[in-house]
Amino acid sequence: MAQIFISHSAKDEQGISFFSKVFSTTNVKAIFEEYEKLTGISINSNKIQEDINKSDCIFILLNENIEQNKHTRDWVAWECGYGSQNNKDVWVFEKQEDYKKITLVTPSLKHYVRYNPDDNWFHYIQTIIKSYDNSNVNKNTLLGTTIGGIISDDEDKIAGLVLGAFLGNALSKKNLKVIGEKIKCNYCLNSYIVHVPKFHPFRCPVCNKSLKFNS
Ligand SMILES: [Zn+2]
Repeated sequence: MAQIFISHSAKDEQGISFFSKVFSTTNVKAIFEEYEKLTGISINSNKIQEDINKSDCIFILLNENIEQNKHTRDWVAWECGYGSQNNKDVWVFEKQEDYKKITLVTPSLKHYVRYNPDDNWFHYIQTIIKSYDNSNVNKNTLLGTTIGGIISDDEDKIAGLVLGAFLGNALSKKNLKVIGEKIKCNYCLNSYIVHVPKFHPFRCPVCNKSLKFNS
């Protein structure tokens, strides 16, 4: 059975509840790890490494609580790095309402998702999770299309893209493709795949600059 390692805040009850419900509709097991326990004193990094090694990818659910404890921030960054070095896809999730509330950077991520705990995102995230389901012979694929040099931080020019435009198409197909957009940040020049709503600005999860898609 496929499994996904999930680093999260114990205080993010909404996020935990939402992801638990999504996982319960899949054949993928969730391994939840509270990042408040990552204090640096009693942490068992071998256990975390073992859990990550057994997992097919890592979800990092960021929320405001991550901002308050330096040790915790360092450990979450370590989890991302360890996962990436061991060829696990690192997915970073932030709620849309947390825009500008989170500054933690995660240089080794592969996917950045700004979600809402609602029905549309339930199905989208379910699709992401199911793409790791190794019980299905028809392995699903994650697709990122490449567009480059399209971001700026001018909020007046916010325009079109991504999820709304593609989600309908993606979910109407039985082979369940999750479609994000591969971007290269104009500031730090790092590349990763973003899953963000149309018209919304977002932060670069590597350098923390505000970004958005031009029309
Ligand atoms: Zn950047």
